[in-house]
Amino acid sequence: MLKPIRLSELRQLPGQKTQEVRFRQFFAGFESLTPVEGSLRVSHRGHFVEVRAQARTIVTLTCHRCLQQFNHRLELDVEEIILIREPNSGPPPLELELKEEEDLLESLPPNGELDVEDLMRQYLHLEMPTQLPCRPDCPGIVVESAAPAGDPRWAPLAALLKEIS
Ligand SMILES: [Zn+2]
Repeated sequence: MLKPIRLSELRQLPGQKTQEVRFRQFFAGFESLTPVEGSLRVSHRGHFVEVRAQARTIVTLTCHRCLQQFNHRLELDVEEIILIREPNSGPPPLELELKEEEDLLESLPPNGELDVEDLMRQYLHLEMPTQLPCRPDCPGIVVESAAPAGDPRWAPLAALLKEIS
């Protein structure tokens, strides 16, 4: 379980005002075959917080072509800016306006805390691929008519079909 990081404590850290946590754990609400292993670095930059998250794990996906389950190595490397400001305090400070809009979706009050457990869970969900084939040449669900009986070249396919059904 990752502990939330208080902005007030982060602000008081010497030097780079940076806290780094390493973890190896399962995340509630995110299914993975192996524990998620990685690190999270949070830096206080005055008007905003800089987050850098790196993690890897193995997840089970369902192939969108043949509908078989397969294991997939998930790796993420995310950088995010979270604004520090009171809620409803108007537009972001000038110096941040150059950054891309989508980077600024989140904000935290100055006395707030960053729920890094929840943040990691969000990153993991965002990284989950949709519509990934089990292998690049996955033929998909092979229909019976594509496998003429008696042709030995189709034997492996027929066996595979049997396995699926
Ligand atoms: Zn497949």
